Amino acid sequence: MGSQLHMFMFPFMARGHMIPVVDMAKFLSSRGIKITIVTTPLNSISISNSLHASKSLSVSQIHLLILEFPSVRVGLPDGCENFDSVLSPAMFPKFISALNLLQTPFEEAVMEHRPHCILADAFFPWANDVAAKFGIPRLNFNGTSFFSYCASEFMRIHEPYNHVSSDTEPFLIPYLPGEIAFTKMKLSQLVRENVKNDVTDFLKRAQESGSASYGVVMNSFYELESEYVDCFRNVLGRKAWHIGPLSLCNKVTEEKAQRGNGSTIDEHECLKWLDAKKPNSVVYVCFGSMTKFNSDQLKEIASGLEASEKNFIWVVRKVKREEEEEEEEDQDWSLEEFEQRMEGKGMIIRGWAPQVLILDHPAVGGFITHCGWNSTLEGVAAGVPMVTWPVSAEQFYNEKLVTEVLKVGVAVGVEKWVRIVGDFIGKGAVEKAIRRVMEGEEAEEMRNRAKELGEMARKAVAENGSSCSDLDALIKELKSLAF
Ligand code: UDP
Repeated sequence: MGSQLHMFMFPFMARGHMIPVVDMAKFLSSRGIKITIVTTPLNSISISNSLHASKSLSVSQIHLLILEFPSVRVGLPDGCENFDSVLSPAMFPKFISALNLLQTPFEEAVMEHRPHCILADAFFPWANDVAAKFGIPRLNFNGTSFFSYCASEFMRIHEPYNHVSSDTEPFLIPYLPGEIAFTKMKLSQLVRENVKNDVTDFLKRAQESGSASYGVVMNSFYELESEYVDCFRNVLGRKAWHIGPLSLCNKVTEEKAQRGNGSTIDEHECLKWLDAKKPNSVVYVCFGSMTKFNSDQLKEIASGLEASEKNFIWVVRKVKREEEEEEEEDQDWSLEEFEQRMEGKGMIIRGWAPQVLILDHPAVGGFITHCGWNSTLEGVAAGVPMVTWPVSAEQFYNEKLVTEVLKVGVAVGVEKWVRIVGDFIGKGAVEKAIRRVMEGEEAEEMRNRAKELGEMARKAVAENGSSCSDLDALIKELKSLAF
């Protein structure tokens, strides 16, 4: 037996980034790799809880290394260590300053522990310099699909949105297979308004550092988006390893329930509720870890759900009053009253849901998702057709993959990228989209395709599957560089 490979993993401090990295750590440690997850004091709590929920012996090979997060030094409130708590645009540049200040302590940790390689989130562009200093490879992780990685790279390089006359005029994403049409409205407002500031400089550096890294580790599998994997490798010319869906490395119920946070609802109660429902009769509604809606939007979702006449589990995260630009609470409607009226038919989870447990339950027949990549891939792995409701980040690209390439979902009709609080959608559109994924022939076809993809996902991470083989190839390459 050769020496043990040691990898530093440094996830960005947001749940959507930490969850897949923790899953990845488990997957790699099961292959005999020693892992050190680098994080900050408050974030280490949820990571540690997730690791403790695992029954696998190899998690003992995963260590935590804690760096102080310099929140107060950059003018953020004490304890603001996670991007989820960055609520206003004014806090964003401060958070970036804090991320940059982590370079020195990170470098000191590398000096002390001498890992053989670093896997760092794209939001640590300086990780390339640290790795170069110690002569080790830096792998990049940005937690999205090959499809959206390719789309955003072609968008960055060719700027096709500069050749349209309005925000709503469609254009094709150049070089991206499949003739995918997009609009400027679906790009971040920083791009739309051609903003140049510290934030855009940082985002540009993050994207460029990805291309300059040794290679990219992707939470995806070859059969899902082979054309885009090939495009990434052959047209963009980047090294990449697909090792997902990473959520599938969670085997036991406690482990699934503890991903990210620990549920705010007893998972057994939730599963019991689902057990009493017919197969494919429940719609699961969740918009990831960050998106929050105001009361007006919640009311439309509620009315759409009620009109669809389907059972549902709805994870509700509401904008706090102080975050709302204008207070316009609707006095005629309350979530509590809706919840009581829907008793038996609908379950409302305030806070954090055991998402993969819910999605994997046979009673769940549809998923309304904001198209964060983790959620999208979890929906695929569970074989569930989706209603796509993108909000921000790269979610509009993932929507295209789901609705136009994979054809396992329908768009609810969001036209505009709006950070965190989302563009407004009326109840009629919600009802219509739910019915389309839950009833009739079109739904049946989508469900069959989704089930097939779910099967492929399981095969990909099983012995000799495409993701398992790529993981072996990655480990082999890293070992050849290290020893
Ligand atoms: N998640 C969860 N319970 C919730 C909300 C989210 O377990 O109530 C998990 C979900 O399973 C996924 C992650 O949080 O793994 C969200 O990541 P995604 O990329 O979908 O969206 P983001 O939160 O980054 O916008």
